[in-house]
Amino acid sequence: MAKIILNKLNYFHNLDTINQKLNNTDKIAVVLKDNAYGHGLMQIAKLANEYGIKKAVVRTIKEAEEISHLFDYILVLAETINQSCSHTFHIAINSLQDINNICKNTNVHLKIDTGMHRNGITIEELEEAIYRISKANLNLTGVFTHYRSSDVLSSEFFWQQTNFNNIKNEVKTICEKLSLSLPHFHSLNSSGIFRCEKVDDDFVRIGIACYGYCDNKFPLYEPKLKPVASLVATRLSTTHLKKGNRIGYGGEFEASQDMASSTYDIGYGDGFLRLTPNHGQYITPKGFTLLGKVSMDSLSLDTNEEEVVIFDDVNHLAQLHRTITYEILTSLSSQIKRVIE
Ligand SMILES: *Cc1c(COP(=O)(O)O)cnc(C)c1O
Repeated sequence: MAKIILNKLNYFHNLDTINQKLNNTDKIAVVLKDNAYGHGLMQIAKLANEYGIKKAVVRTIKEAEEISHLFDYILVLAETINQSCSHTFHIAINSLQDINNICKNTNVHLKIDTGMHRNGITIEELEEAIYRISKANLNLTGVFTHYRSSDVLSSEFFWQQTNFNNIKNEVKTICEKLSLSLPHFHSLNSSGIFRCEKVDDDFVRIGIACYGYCDNKFPLYEPKLKPVASLVATRLSTTHLKKGNRIGYGGEFEASQDMASSTYDIGYGDGFLRLTPNHGQYITPKGFTLLGKVSMDSLSLDTNEEEVVIFDDVNHLAQLHRTITYEILTSLSSQIKRVIE
């Protein structure tokens, strides 16, 4: 059966590398949304806990509940809750309307829009939002933003940071006025921390770097990260092709000589997205060539090995698909067995 192998030492190495920027594991919140970027929510949550990470970020309340025993502090990005929930949960407020949809005494983090223009309140709404949060008896435990340009090498990232620094000052003034305790501030994702000399925020939200990737290339500083997930497929059958035989839908691969080809139990239904010969040739880490199109549940390779590592690093795949590593990873089906090694 196909499986995803999670390399624990690589995961810990990545956390070490991130921690070199912070010198404090309490400042790291691991982002576990979308099945921990396709790696497996529970498996990665347990590894993070074993390493000593105390904070996590997820998308939904259900995800937060599943991992609640493993973290002291869980930020839920995209779901409000109208009933009381664990005091370790912190619910993101993405709009002024959200304030009415959360039951009192809940911890909330107010999201500020610093230019992404997807969600978050505007800088002009800041005072009203904090006032309404306090009126609704919600605990304002955090104020945060998500930069649109931390992965774009331009000065945009720096003016957005300046905006957020101004917001921090304003929040401090408002909280003093309303006698509220000061919330935690956070703004940086993976590419953000590697662009900062020094991190002033209370914590950072790290997704892709924990899993071993950073899609943008830094001119000055290249973090040495190691991919955590490998996809391993098992052989279903072997065919002996005659010269001129063609493989798969549309027969796109044609054998130029007699050769063996085997079918493996991974396809686009498992999240190994369809590669056609138009994408360019895909070669596995051990040098086997993908033959013809990927089917829903299978693909063909020019080998007869029982088990084949389909990838141990998705950078090349992301390039072939002209996309980002995030998309390749989050596509991986939750049905595939995850094994920690
Ligand atoms: C997904 C996400 C992150 C993590 O981003 P990476 O680039 O994977 O580190 C951080 N913050 C928010 C709000 C997110 O949605």
